[in-house]
Amino acid sequence: MKMLSAVLHQRMRPRAWWLLPAVALLLGGIGWGVYAIYQKREQRYRHQIESSLQAVNQLQLRAASDWRARRQSEAVALSQDSLFAQAVARWRAAGSPDGEVLLRERLRILVEQQRYTAAYLVDAQGRLLLDSEGVATGGLPGPEQEALQRALAQAQPEIVELHRDPSFAFPVLGLLAPLFDGSTPLGAVWLVIDARTALFPLLETWPDHSSTTESVLVQREGDAVVTLSPLRLRSEEREPLRLPLAEGGRDPMALAAEGVRGAFYASDYRGQDVLAVASAAPDAPWLLVSKIDVAEAFTDAQRREWLMLSLFVSLGLLSLGSAVVFWQWRAWRRERALKGELERNLRWLENAQKAASVGYFLYDAGDEAFIMSRMASTIFGLPADGRMTLRQWVSMLHPDERAQTLQIHGRAMAQRTLLRTQYRIRRAGDAQERWIEVWGEYSQASDAEPLLMTGTVQDITERKQTEEQLTRYRTALEAQVRLDPLTQVANRLALDEAVTHEWSRALREGAALALLMIDVDHFKAYNDYYGHVAGDQCLQRVTVALSSVLGRAGDLLARYGGEEFAVLLPGADAPSALSVALRLEEAVRALALEHRGSECCGNVTVSMGVASLQPAQYAGGDGQARAGVDAAQALFQQADAALYTAKQTGRNRVVLYGADCMAALHPSEWAPLTPARFQ
Ligand code: GH3
Ligand code: MG
Ligand code: MG
Repeated sequence: MKMLSAVLHQRMRPRAWWLLPAVALLLGGIGWGVYAIYQKREQRYRHQIESSLQAVNQLQLRAASDWRARRQSEAVALSQDSLFAQAVARWRAAGSPDGEVLLRERLRILVEQQRYTAAYLVDAQGRLLLDSEGVATGGLPGPEQEALQRALAQAQPEIVELHRDPSFAFPVLGLLAPLFDGSTPLGAVWLVIDARTALFPLLETWPDHSSTTESVLVQREGDAVVTLSPLRLRSEEREPLRLPLAEGGRDPMALAAEGVRGAFYASDYRGQDVLAVASAAPDAPWLLVSKIDVAEAFTDAQRREWLMLSLFVSLGLLSLGSAVVFWQWRAWRRERALKGELERNLRWLENAQKAASVGYFLYDAGDEAFIMSRMASTIFGLPADGRMTLRQWVSMLHPDERAQTLQIHGRAMAQRTLLRTQYRIRRAGDAQERWIEVWGEYSQASDAEPLLMTGTVQDITERKQTEEQLTRYRTALEAQVRLDPLTQVANRLALDEAVTHEWSRALREGAALALLMIDVDHFKAYNDYYGHVAGDQCLQRVTVALSSVLGRAGDLLARYGGEEFAVLLPGADAPSALSVALRLEEAVRALALEHRGSECCGNVTVSMGVASLQPAQYAGGDGQARAGVDAAQALFQQADAALYTAKQTGRNRVVLYGADCMAALHPSEWAPLTPARFQ
């Protein structure tokens, strides 16, 4: 039973072939989703980085431009300060020390309060006159000198763009604010600004701490671009970087000088990939290029995205894992419930098998083996290990039915029809002959699966024996119904059936059928004389005598009723029938039973009517069945008529119906008869 249940379990296990593609599809879906989210987030982050770099660039440019504008407006205010111009004019004219103090005070305010690095009063030829400390000597450097001339000519301040001058140890931005006494040019105030302290800090303001961000002021000079502010990532402070545009390649400064604006990706002077933003100052030749290394800008983003990604993947795997665990748990529970139910059913089945002596089996055509329940093993007389090979089974089949049983099994297997058969086996172990009944059904889940048959087997030996007894009893009963109890020969019912049956055969074979009606003469008188019991004995002795004559298969002696007998002779024509009749009469006569009551003879005698029908001659009714009934009736009528004649003509004789001369045979007249005489 365990083995059987194991096999059933194995067959029951659901096939999860669809699970793999489903999981792959799910993982693919999660992967695609995560990738899409990653892409979107990366794009957004890229945009954020670009925007924030752009914002910083704008702020710095705005700060630098404002600073420049403020300086310009201060220079304009200084140029338009008429009191200061008059003071200069007076000091130049009179050279009074008070005037000089006043002027130096004004220059000192410019330096200390308005944070110019230096402020000089210069004459119209560019010679230095005064600074905040006292009298100055020397002249303006070349670019300042040119700017002075332009400022005086235009009567407005001029800027000397950021440059390096050997007189100063720093990058200088110069302003020349012209001074006039009325329309007479007096000279100018030369305002010197150290860009390192005044301007560059404005470009070094970053909202985030970063190691690769830098903003640099550049300016196009002919076919080259020149840095104005120092490059933070250059290892040492050197001369401004001058980059010919032709060699600039993808350098952000060169690209900016060529007119590229906004955010773009480039490769800077260090050969690093950078995200750069370029913008141009509105009132100056300045271009501000802010940049950050791509590697740094996106490291954080990438780290965050990877974190997100791994979070998503972990969540996905976690949910997938939970789903699988849940699914497994459900499957396990279901399997456990089914197993329990199956075991209950099997137990019930086993009990039912025990009660009904029915065994259960499973036949695997692939293994050519039966797996059987305990009861099935018992029926086959095998140990309870639940296994029987095909060879074992075949060897157990009764030799008389082996071929037929194998054929029935083979047909059910080939046609997948229900198998219901009974056969005998020689049980293993005790070699007892047993009848078994097998019900089975073949099934095959698919072509790849083995062909299986499940079925029941029942030992029906006792039933078979009972059936056989019943059959015997029924046969005996049926025989009794057709047997006359007194004489133990066929009765009238049997005779009627035999006549109908034999007439059908006669029709088929074209042979004749003869009927003899025999009546004991003066039997009433016999009874009256000897008594009823003696009458019965007489009838029995007559029967024995009549039977002794009939030896051919198919000949039938019947007690027709009372003291009347009938003999059915299949295949007998009239002469043959007559011949048999005479022998019958002779047999009765040979009994020599005394009959003192008889009017005709001293012994018991019989009268006989003989009739024989030829199917060819007989024209019956319209149908064959009808013809059968008619012919039987005709046969009886003819024999009866002949008997009647025999009685009428003196008894103790044989009369053939329809013969030219009705034979009236008296024992004294008996002589051998030739069949020809009666034809
Ligand atoms: P017939 O020569 O004209 O045939 O005269 P019969 O007396 O033989 O004929 P009948 O029909 O007049 O009488 C038949 C008798 O047979 C009547 C009955 O008492 C007797 N008989 C019928 N059946 C049995 C039986 O089973 N046993 C005995 N002992 N007598 C029987
Ligand atoms: Mg009679
Ligand atoms: Mg009689």
